[in-house]
Amino acid sequence: MGTRVAVELWSEDAALAERAMGAVIAEMRRTDELMSTYKPESQLSQVNSHAHERPVEVDADILSVVERGLEMSRLSGGAFDITYASVGYLYDYRAHQRPTEAAIAAALPGVDYRQVVVDRETRSIRFLREGVRIDLGGIAKGYAVDRSIEKLRELGIRHAMVNAGGDTRLLGDRRGKPWIVGIRDPRAEGRMVTRLPLADEAISTSGDYERYFEEDGVRYHHILVPGTGRSARAVRSATVLGPDATLTDALSTTVFVLGVERGMELVARMPGVEAVVVDAEGRIFYSDGLTPPQ
Ligand code: ADP
Ligand code: MG
Repeated sequence: MGTRVAVELWSEDAALAERAMGAVIAEMRRTDELMSTYKPESQLSQVNSHAHERPVEVDADILSVVERGLEMSRLSGGAFDITYASVGYLYDYRAHQRPTEAAIAAALPGVDYRQVVVDRETRSIRFLREGVRIDLGGIAKGYAVDRSIEKLRELGIRHAMVNAGGDTRLLGDRRGKPWIVGIRDPRAEGRMVTRLPLADEAISTSGDYERYFEEDGVRYHHILVPGTGRSARAVRSATVLGPDATLTDALSTTVFVLGVERGMELVARMPGVEAVVVDAEGRIFYSDGLTPPQ
């Protein structure tokens, strides 16, 4: 998944604690193996190569993640779209490469979540047209975090924090005190926009500072507006709090694309969900259920 994973947990049994740590790392590796698009032999790569010709059978985990991704597409009117990858694959942030206007225009018809059909019966995925690619980078880390928390719960752990890049979930509190999760300043690593006391909750941040390069003063980064195939510019970072990390991961990417106004509107419609957004000018916005720091 190309990211750092951190686990903090509490147990009175040191051997169990070690085992629990190992279980989280194993779960992260498993998700990475399953959902990476960098590995040509992964199921997801098979889907991208063949789903326009025939239904491609996949693991139940991939089915659920794709289904939740499609659900977020419907909720957001397409701001979140796993088929962003039909254009997204043309960018190489490490190599500072971006597609030409013509290449974007040629690939854009492939960006449309309605072309992805999930069949629960045959556990397969099919694309209704050619030129469609999916990528789960906006949701899979949250899913891996949720699975890890499930594993910890099964092992009897009651206080834990699991973080993978921008996605965090908290199991219980930090033994009588809340966990303190900081939201970083998108333009100054190490500086915080705010700190939130949390328990039994998930929190995800999407930012334009994770993977990007600059060309003539313009920042090209990894979150794309599905309609245009270009980097979203409305905000610098979007943080979402909610009941599970699969949801908050997808939703932080979604709010990033939608911008402050439409993003906050969507958040207000969803029970148990809050957000903190830093706009393109560095102004900070809090959803109605959060109290801004004085
Ligand atoms: P990260 O923690 O990697 O920054 P984010 O949750 O912010 O993750 O999501 C960014 C990733 O989401 C991108 O690297 C890409 O894989 C994927 N992505 C980019 N644009 C979209 C979009 N409009 N809809 C869904 N996924 C997207
Ligand atoms: Mg996300």
